[in-house]
Amino acid sequence: MTKNFLIVGSGFYGSTCARELIDAGHRCTVIDKRDHVGGNCYTRYVEEADCHEHTYGAHIFHTSSEKIWKYVNRFASFNHYVNRVKVSHKSKIYSFPINLFTLYQLFGAKTPKEAMACLEGKKILIEKPKNMEEWCLANVGREIYETFIEGYSTKQWARHPRELPASIIKRVPIRLNFDDNYFDDRYQGIPIGGYTSIFEKMLEDIPVELEVDFLKHRDDLMAKHDHVIFTGPIDSFFNYSLGHLEYRSLKFDHQLLDLPDFQGNAVFNHTEAKVPFTRTYEHKHFDMNYSANKTSVTFEYPEKWEPGKIEIYPVNTEENQSLFLRYQELAKEVPEVTFGGRLGQYRYYDMHQVIASALSKVRLLV
Ligand code: FAD
Repeated sequence: MTKNFLIVGSGFYGSTCARELIDAGHRCTVIDKRDHVGGNCYTRYVEEADCHEHTYGAHIFHTSSEKIWKYVNRFASFNHYVNRVKVSHKSKIYSFPINLFTLYQLFGAKTPKEAMACLEGKKILIEKPKNMEEWCLANVGREIYETFIEGYSTKQWARHPRELPASIIKRVPIRLNFDDNYFDDRYQGIPIGGYTSIFEKMLEDIPVELEVDFLKHRDDLMAKHDHVIFTGPIDSFFNYSLGHLEYRSLKFDHQLLDLPDFQGNAVFNHTEAKVPFTRTYEHKHFDMNYSANKTSVTFEYPEKWEPGKIEIYPVNTEENQSLFLRYQELAKEVPEVTFGGRLGQYRYYDMHQVIASALSKVRLLV
């Protein structure tokens, strides 16, 4: 039987559901409270720099799933971008994630064997690490902790690693070879023409209404549709009746600079505590198009989240997890609504995971 679906949110979760439901013969309308489609993956074309600005933070598509790679390639072609991050700390630049070249830069280690011996020698004996700092000192030593972890984590979590539980850090990935590819996945790239064009293709022939907040028209919209797929924050759907789920937020300062190349690489992590931003990204390096004389650069600042700011990273504490579970219990009382995506599920999802999750959910709805 044909059903009439309302999809709240035009990010990867909502757009994948919309495409699949329409292709299965259902009716479907997509709304979004923003003035554009694509959710946090939205990109804006910057004509002067002839590249696409990742407006809500750098997005690199990566997956090991052939099925998801084929699926997303229906809507875009990808370039051969590989994420090779650089770290800026004090006056030095390091290769990242930590690999043999980083260990050469730090300690002069030239072979995997030398690097292994060096790392062992750096560990500080702490029998029962009580916090994140002690865990790092015991497992990777002072130099790696101070160069890559201490300042960055302090900025990211607004707390010194001495005040953070050791459980936050499960391991520090260290490669004993020269592989500096950030991701281990089989497929990786940036869509040629930007991410927004993926969403425009996914949503082709599907009615999309922008700048419509579901929460302001809830009764009317619920009455007009058989089923709602809600990809906004789950607590907002229930008017925060049990309290607010917590997030960390980010502030993005986008700049157009009058020079052809600012930093020579797409992503730099700034790990010193006194540098207020955590990352800088230069968008022409994602597009791999170096024709323009100007460049588009973003400075990313961690920010305290409060209602009204963009929800970026769920704060993974026991309190938040148990609050989320209580909201999930409430969700069972509205079976005509499906909660999906990173905000509906209150978990950090990469793009390929959100698409996979939408594809498997939609199979149950068609
Ligand atoms: P979103 O993209 O957030 O979409 C939800 C949509 O719902 C939004 O458009 C919002 O406006 C809309 N909405 C919410 N409430 C309402 C309402 N009441 N009414 C109407 N509309 C509403 N993933 C990767 O794979 N690689 C990366 O390199 C990567 N980098 C990232 C960097 C940053 C800084 C961040 C924050 C995320 C990154 N991600 C990355 C993750 C990626 O952004 C997510 O996987 C993806 O955006 C999740 O899609 P979604 O549809 O669940 O949510």
